Amino acid sequence: MTGLKLRVRFAPSPTGELHIGNARTALFNWLFARHNGGAFLLRIEDTDQVRTSAVYEKNILADLKWLSLDWDEGPGKEGQFGPYHQSQRAGMYEPYLNKLRQAGLAYPCYCTADELEAERMGLIAGKMPPRYGGKCRNLTDEERKEKERVCGQPAFRFKVGEGQAEFSDLIRGAMKFDCGALGDFIIMRSDGTPAYNFAVVVDDHLMKITHVIRGEDHLSNTASQILLYKALGFEPPVFAHHSLITGKDRAKLSKRHGSVSVREFRERGFLPEAIINYLSLLGSSFGEGQEIFPPDRIIREFSLEKTGKASAVFDEDKLKWINGAYIRSYSVEELTEALAPFVRKAGYDPNLFERGWLHSVVAAVQGNLTLLADIGGYLDLFYGQRCVISDEAAELLRQGRAPEVIKLFYNALLPGNLPDDDLYNAVVQKVRKESGAKGRELYMPLRAAITGSTQGPELDRIFSILGREKLLKRLALVVGEK
Ligand code: GLU
Repeated sequence: MTGLKLRVRFAPSPTGELHIGNARTALFNWLFARHNGGAFLLRIEDTDQVRTSAVYEKNILADLKWLSLDWDEGPGKEGQFGPYHQSQRAGMYEPYLNKLRQAGLAYPCYCTADELEAERMGLIAGKMPPRYGGKCRNLTDEERKEKERVCGQPAFRFKVGEGQAEFSDLIRGAMKFDCGALGDFIIMRSDGTPAYNFAVVVDDHLMKITHVIRGEDHLSNTASQILLYKALGFEPPVFAHHSLITGKDRAKLSKRHGSVSVREFRERGFLPEAIINYLSLLGSSFGEGQEIFPPDRIIREFSLEKTGKASAVFDEDKLKWINGAYIRSYSVEELTEALAPFVRKAGYDPNLFERGWLHSVVAAVQGNLTLLADIGGYLDLFYGQRCVISDEAAELLRQGRAPEVIKLFYNALLPGNLPDDDLYNAVVQKVRKESGAKGRELYMPLRAAITGSTQGPELDRIFSILGREKLLKRLALVVGEK
């Protein structure tokens, strides 16, 4: 393989939204290409006509772009090895099927779906591996003709034979699979479309893929594919099978664990940088001790061996923490821009806000946002009429000197008492002097009364955003004034 540019591919089937685990596979391929100066290809595996959907494909492409996982060849970026949709490569597989047939390594299979299912169930009931028994393997020419007349177009199976399928995995080392367990597998369906294992081998060969990086759930497929490479006389690529993402219970990450698609994370207000950062470090031994890695550093330090082997237990709290760190790294202008869709989602039109006012809200809450969607609650607080007092805040407002302190704040804020300039400091100073309260005793009742919560942005910022009139209204509700 010397002298050949390193080429990897991500090959999603558009039968669902981009799963966070698949995004991690795409990321590993992308990082491997970028780290080694190779090419990253995107191939759409859309031969399953029933489950494939154009909407899923559109969403997968959009999500990859959103994550900045740009491809060098693929849809919208045709290179010399296209087309990059399997459905558009229809004529490319038949010559290889013929090659296998001529070598006596593929044969037509006339078994119906019902027959195959009955065989499968029987084997499972007898506690045997559910593999094809080879019913059509040794039919005579006569028998084949007769079957064709009755059953129509056959599917084609690969004759697996004896022995072992072996390969060396970049992450897992030497791998060996017993061919006996595989059974003769379908390579071409009766409708003329290639089956997954066959299409992938032909495509990876024709696209000059040098490394195949994918999840360990594909290990047994790789065994089948290795046999096809050998039978077709192709040099196999280097394989690397990374671990899968699991929930805390060590079961493969699925809907019952919470959000699983990139789209869901995006809609909940996670930033792409945070997802990339988190997935790069997930189950990895690189980056230990440091959680925030800018992309150029990830590319520089990425290593498949360090990243792909360890178990990858998904921890949404950690992802949230990283998300908060990226939110804090944005400028106020950038963050306001990123928040716009979430402002809309919360029922507000960002264009109707005065720009300076919106920027001051964003600056005030930047340190408190974990998800972009959190902005909705703050807009309710600062702009809307809603200020719901939490149970904790209500309890605090009843305790100790809180009622007295709040009354003094209310009086200090009444028009005419203090000038608007530097209102916050003036008010606090006055109440401190009059009440003798300081620290939590002074600030917490004020916070609880004007925000309804015991935590949140800095009080001086809240003061200047709300303004005297709103502050008085909120305090009035607590002190019982009209
Ligand atoms: N279309 C396959 C999948 O989404 C690709 C697997 C592979 O990388 O070969 O699982």
